[in-house]
Amino acid sequence: MLRSFAFEPFDLPPETETLRAEVRAFLAETIPHRTARERAESWMGMDPAFSRKMGERGWLGMTWPKKYGGHERSFADRYVVIEEMLAAGAPVSFHWIADRQSGPLLLRFGTEEQRQSVLPRIARGEVCFCIGMSEPGAGSDLAGVRTRGHKVDGGWRVSGQKIWTSNAHVATYMIALVRTSEGERHAGLSQLLIDMKSPGVTVRPIENLTGAADFNEVFLDDVFVPESMLIGQDGNGWKQVNAELAYERSGPERYLSSIRIFQEFLRVVGPEPTEAERLFIGQVTAQMWTLRQMSLSVAGKLSRGEDPMADATIVKDLGTTLEQMLPPAIQALAPFTQDEPFRDTLQYLVQSSTSFSLRGGTREILRGIIARELGLR
Ligand SMILES: Cc1cc2nc3c(=O)[nH]c(=O)nc-3n(C[C@H](O)[C@H](O)[C@H](O)COP(=O)(O)OP(=O)(O)OC[C@H]3O[C@@H](n4cnc5c(N)ncnc54)[C@H](O)[C@@H]3O)c2cc1C
Repeated sequence: MLRSFAFEPFDLPPETETLRAEVRAFLAETIPHRTARERAESWMGMDPAFSRKMGERGWLGMTWPKKYGGHERSFADRYVVIEEMLAAGAPVSFHWIADRQSGPLLLRFGTEEQRQSVLPRIARGEVCFCIGMSEPGAGSDLAGVRTRGHKVDGGWRVSGQKIWTSNAHVATYMIALVRTSEGERHAGLSQLLIDMKSPGVTVRPIENLTGAADFNEVFLDDVFVPESMLIGQDGNGWKQVNAELAYERSGPERYLSSIRIFQEFLRVVGPEPTEAERLFIGQVTAQMWTLRQMSLSVAGKLSRGEDPMADATIVKDLGTTLEQMLPPAIQALAPFTQDEPFRDTLQYLVQSSTSFSLRGGTREILRGIIARELGLR
């Protein structure tokens, strides 16, 4: 049966403008010397001290209950904070995954003990999380994970290998997707909270095209994971992972990762753009504005406890298409510009943006999900 989806319009309430001004003042004061090239790292820019400062301001775990260290603020407030962080190229990577998806996952599926012990530390910017989903041979086909948790007294012994694990080298915890029973592919998977200091965990960096080593291989060799670290139900990992991916796919980081080169382009072009530049600026602005409305609509649904899988997936597919189009399009429009910050930013983003349509699920996989959600396959 053919299904449909709806992006309900949502305008940020006018009172969020006060918060926006506060965030801008904080950023002007806290990261004034960050170069354009550093800002281009967007949500991969790492500075644990900056994350703690955000925690002190009450800008992490913003929507969570106060009893878990949260601040019970609206999703609109959170949206304003994260879009200002991304627009400024603030170094948010240390807390990003925890605040965006691991915390909400624990809030929804975690035990009371996990919520009480972990969420306040995320909200203070003290802990970094990594996502242990992908494995060699299990990326797009995630249900093919082979990392195995063998049941033992009081927990599991986990062995296997994860790959492309962003920030594993600094992470406090990994949320790992692990096979805990055989049988039907999707049924035997569970999510385990793994302390990265556990004996048997080895992290090896993988250098990417830009020379950075943000992601890693993680080897799990007979790692003991206590029963108290199971998230949700044993065997319910597939459903939980899919709920988590909706948080991962629809935020403003899915269309703002290349914003720095657009900002640099506007600066270099100055107040009198040519006709071609003017047309380009108008087109990009219109697309960003539309994506922002769509992303806000998904954030609204997530905050109401809905699972807007199709909507979130559409935002990521269209958003990463825009993010990837920007660097080469700007390179074509301003090929000989010698301005150093512009050139460094462009060079970095031409290299790094190729990965934007891989992380969080590839374009082909996203389109397959959209087709399935619409009842087309
Ligand atoms: C920068 C970056 C950060 C990442 N961070 C993390 C992380 O923190 N944690 C984590 O778990 N993973 C992470 N990943 C991994 C990412 O999720 C995977 O790379 C992605 O899911 C693709 O899996 P794969 O690399 O195994 O490619 P494959 O699944 O082997 O795919 C290769 C190609 O085949 C295509 N393909 C595969 N199956 C189909 C199909 N059924 N139909 C059509 N086409 C298909 C894909 O679209 C792709 O083009 C990261 C990746 C990148 C690039």
